[in-house]
Amino acid sequence: MKPEVYILKHGSFEELGNSQLEGAFGLHVTTGLVVYEKNEEKKCMIIEPGMVCDFEEHVEKIKELGFELEKDLSHVLCTHMHQDHIQALGKYPNNTHVFHFGSSSLLGTPEYGAKLYEEGHIEISEIQYEKINNAHTHKDTIYIIDSENEGKLAFVGDLVFATFDVLSKDMQYKVDKDASVDQRRRYDKFKNWFESNTDITGFYLGHGNRKVSREEVKEYFSEYTL
Ligand SMILES: [Zn+2]
Repeated sequence: MKPEVYILKHGSFEELGNSQLEGAFGLHVTTGLVVYEKNEEKKCMIIEPGMVCDFEEHVEKIKELGFELEKDLSHVLCTHMHQDHIQALGKYPNNTHVFHFGSSSLLGTPEYGAKLYEEGHIEISEIQYEKINNAHTHKDTIYIIDSENEGKLAFVGDLVFATFDVLSKDMQYKVDKDASVDQRRRYDKFKNWFESNTDITGFYLGHGNRKVSREEVKEYFSEYTL
């Protein structure tokens, strides 16, 4: 059976517009749950743990889907190490593998790179990752899931923050300039990756409020050029 993907919470990104906190944003990441089967055992992985303030809500959703954190959660997958994406990491059980950029280690241990997935997939062939260097951060990771319920889709983290209806083109540019290691490289690398992965039909953006289609990402590139 192919894995299934569920969204625990859609992302957001808004300027608070508070004169006391000029330039401050209210933001949440898109957090997904991947349910997979290995050795006849059903397990799940979280993509993007997000912030501590969202943790309880994520746990509730996981329970509603019929899973328990301690028993069923095998991995937490992170796209990159910015606070809004990983603040809640420490809330997860110590035997959970944290995966980022081709390495995996158990939470609560100082061990790094305890279990490598050098073949490009994590546990099963339908859960893949791809590394992107020096773009949004020094080490970004895209997760590609060939799923039963939603087709082939990707969690791209902040290689694209959000659609223009969530974050205007001007703001996208402004945030990118402040937050990315290399704005031009972020744009070019994501575009190259997108164009060489033509079988992916759905995309979850770091702070997007819904899944976006292949057509919409193409539109993004036509409207947002550097
Ligand atoms: Zn972010």
